Amino acid sequence: MSAPRAHATACVLSVGDELVLGQALDTNSMWISDRLLVLGVRPVEHATVPDDLGAQSDTLRAMARRCDLVIATGGLGPTKDDLTRHALAQAMGDVLVEDDESLTFLEGLERERERALTPERRAQALRPARSRALPNGFGTAPGLHGVIDGADVFCLPGPPREMRPMFEAHVTPAIRASPGSAVSTRVLRTYGLAEADAGALLSDLMERATDDSMVGTTASGGIVSVRLRATGADAVRTLDDLDALVRERLGSAVFGGEHETLATLAVLLLKERGERVGVAESCTGGLLGAAITAVPGSSAVYDGGYLTYADGAKTSVLGVDASLIERHGAVSEPVARAMARGVLASPIGARTDHALAVTGVAGPDGGTDEKPVGTVFIGYARRGGATEVRHFRIAGDRDDVRARSVTAALGMLTFALRGVEAPAKLLWEIRR
Ligand code: AMP
Ligand code: MG
Repeated sequence: MSAPRAHATACVLSVGDELVLGQALDTNSMWISDRLLVLGVRPVEHATVPDDLGAQSDTLRAMARRCDLVIATGGLGPTKDDLTRHALAQAMGDVLVEDDESLTFLEGLERERERALTPERRAQALRPARSRALPNGFGTAPGLHGVIDGADVFCLPGPPREMRPMFEAHVTPAIRASPGSAVSTRVLRTYGLAEADAGALLSDLMERATDDSMVGTTASGGIVSVRLRATGADAVRTLDDLDALVRERLGSAVFGGEHETLATLAVLLLKERGERVGVAESCTGGLLGAAITAVPGSSAVYDGGYLTYADGAKTSVLGVDASLIERHGAVSEPVARAMARGVLASPIGARTDHALAVTGVAGPDGGTDEKPVGTVFIGYARRGGATEVRHFRIAGDRDDVRARSVTAALGMLTFALRGVEAPAKLLWEIRR
């Protein structure tokens, strides 16, 4: 018998009416492809099909012809619309048999719950005769492994918290990547530059991309991520080289790695200094405090803040001069400045070293020619130091403006804490 063929390429199939109809998001394909790449298998196609026997078996067959490895998720549950067992049998030209171990497992689960095994649940023990069942340690549905046209086909349950450990337990050890094909990846997070500007600074690196090394960017909510990829024996050295080049080009905009956010960085840096931050929020209505307190351990650096939404609250709580609001408007440079200073002068400010203040027009109403929707002023004050205010014009709907205001505020704070020079004009900032 010849050696089994290597898994050079893979196809990923997602099964479910809810995915095709737009009622649920397919996150499994994304996760699986990312894992495959790291394991040295190149994903070449994704497909999403409804809970339909013909569509499922046709797609399984077509994928098995096209690539070496097929990973399908969904359709293994106990209900009438769960057809993956039948579809795999049809695609393999096989009959369904009951798997003894799966049956024992399912009976055991029901006994624990003091229930009888219904025919619907019992059907989860079925598998194509020439396939094997894959135990599921996190749910009821066993997975399946079969072979079609020499391609390995794995069927895993849809729920991500069952699918992911099953992938690691059953797929990862079965992968036969071609030697030297394992891909190493790294992500650098940046704030302050627009994606187009970051892309321009990296354009030669992005152009020189080969199959073996790659630099790419993606942007989400104002954070531009630079994705590095390298293949082969020297992958780690290549990544280190690319990493250094990207940092050199993008300078202080690079603030961390894949698992870093502006909020985790702010908390970390404040902890290191033994300092604390307080906030005053208008248009973000608490989102800034929520972002800070979402970070575990934030109590060491955050005492609280003020939600001063109305003009009167800005005056009575933060001591913002009413005439300042009258003259310049609540959304203005002087008011953002006074709000930030107001935090430091407040009861919470007694042991606060840094203050952020956000005031803006989130929309959809309330914009004017002079201050259209998306106009946001963010103040940053430091005890014993100067107060900085930046004027932003943030694109998007109300949710976007509010969320991006938080990003901009945390961006200003982290630039100050890192002690590095921010880009001359931050993302969304307009001339002061
Ligand atoms: P299943 O019964 O195996 O078809 O899947 C049950 C549940 O898993 C679905 O209701 C979804 O919530 C989730 N699910 C299925 N497929 C996916 C997918 N591709 N990405 C994320 N979640 C999924
Ligand atoms: Mg389903």
